[in-house]
Amino acid sequence: MTVSVASVRCILTDIEGTTTPIAFVAGTLFPYARQNLRTFLERHMQDADIRTLLGEVSVLSGVSPTDLARLAAVLDQWMRDDLKAKPLKALQGMIWNEGYEMRKLRGVVFDDAAVALRAWHTQKIRLAVYSSGSVLAQKLLFKTAAQGDLTSLFVGFFDTNVGPKRETSSYTRIATELGLSTSDILFLSDAPEELDAAAGAGMQTVQVARAMDGTLPSGRHAYVTALTDIVLT
Ligand SMILES: [Mg+2]
Repeated sequence: MTVSVASVRCILTDIEGTTTPIAFVAGTLFPYARQNLRTFLERHMQDADIRTLLGEVSVLSGVSPTDLARLAAVLDQWMRDDLKAKPLKALQGMIWNEGYEMRKLRGVVFDDAAVALRAWHTQKIRLAVYSSGSVLAQKLLFKTAAQGDLTSLFVGFFDTNVGPKRETSSYTRIATELGLSTSDILFLSDAPEELDAAAGAGMQTVQVARAMDGTLPSGRHAYVTALTDIVLT
């Protein structure tokens, strides 16, 4: 079933559960970061940016900044708890970056998402991403997709530096950064709470409810099961 949306100048999309299977993030990316964290830190512990991040982990955890084993244990616990701490997110992005460069990782994008994003780009609709994964991780995912490098389709990448995904103010800020009114923007996500926040800011919303991810329609937002079912009028 298709959903028609009018007066859209920009489409802002979530990744996990929307353009990409939830299983990719939970089943591939996160385990990869956990398995490679310790060796990554050992190889890069003299790098200035890694030392800065370990310093932040030290401040947050109270563990000595030079105690690599305990810092790694703290980070591993944060990953198991799915904590969104900024230094953890940055380190995960770096580990994934290296994994993509070593071709041990490759981004996964649903075929319908790749087709729809390309079609919207051709229609001069501005495209942007808003995901809790770091901007670096977002770009790597789209850069290494099986459908080809999709990063050039997007004019903006936003992560939680702009604010939490379930807060209305985050969506207002994104619209401001894009130089658009919130009503010009269509936000796509599988998560009803994120869609509620975007709608609260004045954005248009469509839920992406994919059976393979176990997403159920919220009843509060129009929904599609594939991005190609969204018709812009
Ligand atoms: Mg999602």
